[in-house]
Amino acid sequence: KLYNEVQDLKGNIRVYCRIRPFLPGQSKKHTTIEYIGENGELVVANPLKQGKDSHRLFKFNKVFGPAATQEEVFLDTQPLIRSVLDGYNVCIFAYGQTGSGKTYTMTGPNISSREDWGVNYRALNDLFHLSQSRKNSITYEVCVQMVEIYNEQVRDLLSNVLDLMNIGLMNRAVGATALNERSSRSHSIVTVHVRGTDLESDAVLRGSLHLVDLAGSERVDRSEATGDRLREAQHINKSLSALGDVIFALAQKNSHVPYRNSKLTQVLQSSLGGQAKTLMFVQLNPDVESYFESVSTLKFAERVS
Ligand code: ADP
Ligand code: MG
Repeated sequence: KLYNEVQDLKGNIRVYCRIRPFLPGQSKKHTTIEYIGENGELVVANPLKQGKDSHRLFKFNKVFGPAATQEEVFLDTQPLIRSVLDGYNVCIFAYGQTGSGKTYTMTGPNISSREDWGVNYRALNDLFHLSQSRKNSITYEVCVQMVEIYNEQVRDLLSNVLDLMNIGLMNRAVGATALNERSSRSHSIVTVHVRGTDLESDAVLRGSLHLVDLAGSERVDRSEATGDRLREAQHINKSLSALGDVIFALAQKNSHVPYRNSKLTQVLQSSLGGQAKTLMFVQLNPDVESYFESVSTLKFAERVS
């Protein structure tokens, strides 16, 4: 059944758009989101234009509106995550400007409430339960890593390797240490490597899952940013465009895929391409003031989908 679900995915790259709600306390200004269709359509309106030129239609695999729950989002992600136990390599990204809900989608706002859990916790939990339920036919070894990429430097956030039994504990460690309060100037990557051994035949399969909370995609004004801030912005810019170029090359089935242009794409190289499955969450802030950032986010997503 799982195998079929994975085969049913149209290509190897899918894009889900998620629009966060206006936040309590944020004065309810105008939204640029005109329309959300059932089949992944999204219409945004340019506040500075009138007439039909002011509207732009985008189409993705799915669009989650402001009312979508963490559970709904996870349910549409679960088959992909489960395929890791069948030997697939899966990468899930959250892309968008700072404040658009990337960390909300990947980690969640409050890890002590299960309802609030984002994709990361739900994925680890689900893989744990599913692997346990198969233990009479396949034994799984699971290794979890977490790294941060800041200014093209890779830093290990969880240097010890944990076995499957400890994943529950790891849920806590991750929340307490890194992902929740990570600066928006770095990429955080949770990686799960799985090795399954078939008890009858001794055949071995390997799969991996990368869960990536990307640095904020907002353009930094070159005339304003200086020093460290400018350097950070340049590194982010470079790595996000390198990521876009890699996924674009994969989507086009180009023979050359430019993995070497950033640390991010180097780290993910073995898990992007080939039989690998990629899912990009494109995060939007609905506020009219975010219109231009939103359009740039949507164009990035459109190019890779
Ligand atoms: P980012 O990681 O992209 O900078 P966050 O995930 O930190 O953005 O989200 C910014 C704010 O919006 C946070 O206060 C977060 O709790 C809230 N938020 C984001 N997405 C949602 C959502 N789907 N529902 C409710 N609140 C959200
Ligand atoms: Mg964040």
